[in-house]
Amino acid sequence: MEKKKVGIVGAGISGLAACKFTLSKGLIPIVLEARGDIGGVWTETLETTALQTPREMFQFSDFPWPKSVTEKFPRYNQVLDYLKSYAEHFGLLKHIKFNSRVLSIDYEGCSDEEMEGWTHWGGSGEAFAERRKWRLNIVDAHTNIPLQAIVVDFVVLCIGRFCDVPNIPKFPPNEGPEAFKAGKVLHSLEYSAMDFDIASKLIKDKRVTIVGFQKSALDLAMECANANGPNKPCTVLYKTEHWNLPNSHPWGIPLHFLYMNRFAELLIHKPGEGFFLYLLAVLLSPIRWLFSKIVETYVMKKHKLAKYGMVPSHSFLQSISACFIATLPDKFYDKVDEGSIVLKKSQSFRFCEEGIMIEGETKPIRSDLVILATGYRGDQKLKEIFTSSTFRDHMTFHDSMVSLYRLCIHPRVPQLAVVGFTENTSNLFTSEMRCRWLAEFLDGTFKLPSIKEMEKDIANWEKTLKHYSGPFFKRACIAILHIWYCDQLCKDMGWNPRRKKGFFADLFLPYGPSDYASP
Ligand SMILES: Cc1cc2nc3c(=O)[nH]c(=O)nc-3n(C[C@H](O)[C@H](O)[C@H](O)COP(=O)(O)OP(=O)(O)OC[C@H]3O[C@@H](n4cnc5c(N)ncnc54)[C@H](O)[C@@H]3O)c2cc1C
Repeated sequence: MEKKKVGIVGAGISGLAACKFTLSKGLIPIVLEARGDIGGVWTETLETTALQTPREMFQFSDFPWPKSVTEKFPRYNQVLDYLKSYAEHFGLLKHIKFNSRVLSIDYEGCSDEEMEGWTHWGGSGEAFAERRKWRLNIVDAHTNIPLQAIVVDFVVLCIGRFCDVPNIPKFPPNEGPEAFKAGKVLHSLEYSAMDFDIASKLIKDKRVTIVGFQKSALDLAMECANANGPNKPCTVLYKTEHWNLPNSHPWGIPLHFLYMNRFAELLIHKPGEGFFLYLLAVLLSPIRWLFSKIVETYVMKKHKLAKYGMVPSHSFLQSISACFIATLPDKFYDKVDEGSIVLKKSQSFRFCEEGIMIEGETKPIRSDLVILATGYRGDQKLKEIFTSSTFRDHMTFHDSMVSLYRLCIHPRVPQLAVVGFTENTSNLFTSEMRCRWLAEFLDGTFKLPSIKEMEKDIANWEKTLKHYSGPFFKRACIAILHIWYCDQLCKDMGWNPRRKKGFFADLFLPYGPSDYASP
């Protein structure tokens, strides 16, 4: 039988893992990457960007970091080197077409009416169909000249949620960036894409205002404060205080023992849990509260949050459930003390001639440069890659997530999977697991259930994911449910979900990538 072709869009972490696992099943992966290199977001970062995830959690299950890397949180260039050696080791590079942007994808060989009548995904619940294919329309990423389209049996979209498309806040007329005459406005994506020398010259001796309070904003503020000191302070404009951690060991306890072992999962409700697990989560809820307090008291004391008026009004449990737990750069609050960083809270802002006006103030924040660290619109990219308006509708985000079975497959979009659109404390770990599951599915190890069952399962997951994050649910984060999620993938693949030897080890030791190195 002719080998099936799998078109993989994107060669970041998810695309590399998808390529490796499809190859391992004897399929033909064709990876299309718009950039000139592998690594996705890690190819364009700030000079100071480092992992926020401890290295042992951010590694492929069968490919440990080299011994030469001893940092707990390796820098962006070490991450890139690690990804390159992974790609070389598993012979992935020859399957990647660089500088090839996929403009759009068309599903061929089936009408909308025919699809509407299906009770199972793709008509059968299986990965492939003889007549039906995807056509990938490609352009040269530099010249936009069309390249030859590629026809494949299956598509894996690994196009990244946190790159390419900036999220720019909306403003009424004359209150947006166009009103700011005295300086320049950039998104953090543009700043990250700059050569380091050019970027540091750009901020030197400037009054910089940064909008946002997540990882990019915090790192940017530190870069500006180090460059300009208190003479030209950097203003950070934020909406909500967050539990930004100083390190991953509150009061000396590894965070993974509080949130990433099976015991921690017993403390919370899980999608599809039975009565016993439901009851246990209710009875153990005081411990859930206690774990959250352990972290909160530590962060409050370590950063003296009360002194700066930066104590969040929500719990750490909400933060971690929503993946809002950026690591604070070293000495961040020292820079606040010395006046190099000024923190300003406001629910909204507008641009004016000299900079930014915030609620309740009469004078503007005078600025020479405003950097919007306001996130990304990966959702737009995902939707717009489809030519069909029906698929575009299916792939539209509702409440910050798109409906995917096993967070990977849309029940009504056949022969296609999405990897990298939910978040975890280690996205590499999640992407690798998902690609492994996908490869088993492509290999025929299991079939998908009916569309109705898939939709019911998705609804269950969505409800639980939102439950603990409250208003912060923005990233479809599975951090506190990761073991439960991996259990489901393991059951589908016919693996034993219990990955550790012994009852107590399985209950209390944190689960990480190395637990899933082999079936
Ligand atoms: C500053 C920053 C720091 C981060 N730190 C961490 C961390 O510490 N821990 C963690 O777990 N996660 C972190 N993340 C999240 C990060 O996104 C993931 O870790 C991971 O790198 C995502 O990999 P990916 O392959 O899914 O997507 P990406 O890395 O975004 O890769 C997507 C790739 O697809 C390509 N592409 C997109 N559209 C097309 C198209 N139409 N045609 C062809 N190619 C296309 C892009 O060029 C890109 O190379 C961080 C993200 C950012 C932005």
